[in-house]
Amino acid sequence: MEERKRHIAILGSTGSIGTQALDAVAQHRDLFEIELLTANNNASLLIEQAIRFKPNNVVICNPDKYAEVAEALKPHYIKVFAGMESVCDLMSCESLDMVLAAMVGFSGLKPVVAALKAGKAVALANKETLVAAGALVMPLAQEYGAPVIPVDSEHSAIFQCLQGEYSRPVKLILTGSGGPFLNTPSAEMDSITAAAALKHPRWNMGAKVTVDSSTLMNKGLEFIEARWLFDMAPENIEVVIHPESIIHSMVRFEDGCVMAQLSNPDMRLPIQYALTYPLRRSLDCKPLDFAELGSLHFQKPDLERFPCLGIAQSLLAKGGNACCAMNAANEAAVAAFLQGKIRFTDIPNIISDTVEKCQFIEKPDFEAIYCTNFEAFRIAEEIIGNKYAR
Ligand code: MG
Repeated sequence: MEERKRHIAILGSTGSIGTQALDAVAQHRDLFEIELLTANNNASLLIEQAIRFKPNNVVICNPDKYAEVAEALKPHYIKVFAGMESVCDLMSCESLDMVLAAMVGFSGLKPVVAALKAGKAVALANKETLVAAGALVMPLAQEYGAPVIPVDSEHSAIFQCLQGEYSRPVKLILTGSGGPFLNTPSAEMDSITAAAALKHPRWNMGAKVTVDSSTLMNKGLEFIEARWLFDMAPENIEVVIHPESIIHSMVRFEDGCVMAQLSNPDMRLPIQYALTYPLRRSLDCKPLDFAELGSLHFQKPDLERFPCLGIAQSLLAKGGNACCAMNAANEAAVAAFLQGKIRFTDIPNIISDTVEKCQFIEKPDFEAIYCTNFEAFRIAEEIIGNKYAR
């Protein structure tokens, strides 16, 4: 199939997903044109990327870094903007075909909403968008005819398993590696350090998602993400721990048939698939050698040692703004943990305390979601300062 180049925006281009996406673009220059790159803070890498990929526009979200980026890109005729509002404004650019949303945390929501309202296809790596506002975001995508293509490896796996199927699955089976503390005894969980949590056994990712993986909150966020992406009732979504991370997730159909997507763990595969979808392109991924693998293992998640997954599942059942409050509390708790202010085992307690204190809204609109995020983050920081800070 001969196609026009796909014009893409990469939001969060200096992060783990963003840099790997640009690697994919560099491998397939015939397929892509970079229209826009945005970064939060990393001015020097953003400048380097802009000079290499020659986008029309660049946004540095931190306004203090604007002068540095503008100065450096002036000779290259690249327009430079500052601030999150600029990112949202640029989503309606006519030449733009697709937006890769790879920013970290709740900050991804506003630009994703702007992109969907402009009818752009969104390759979604930012799971917090659906965690906080899935009930609003997915209908918006439908209303504006904007496809949402998952980048998260588990959801990409499910998405791939559903290609060409005419029947809806009866079950989604999310796999998770279990993280670095899968076999850590309960008594040692208290003394887990940030450095230990940042060493993931299978996946190389940014700091926030790596800590989330170690608490299993990442699987909780993905559970909620799956509920909205695939419009699946929570009781039909299952989590199974699979330490080798070879099966990236599965779906089961009415007749008992299970489809799975397998590969060595490499985020470049789901990232590139989202960008080239519905086509597949070459990738220098290490092929699977089944004889070398020998066996694959599966077990139930341990909700006693990893309460975050259970919290996420019960707050999804509660509905309203509860998952949004949970997400904000988790962002505050993870930041405090990375700064050494709280213990690993304080994270779920801070989340539960915060959600309990935050006003429950049964049918929040976007405005209420933004307020909840702000309010829950504030409450979580207060709780951290008063009760948990060491
Ligand atoms: Mg994932």
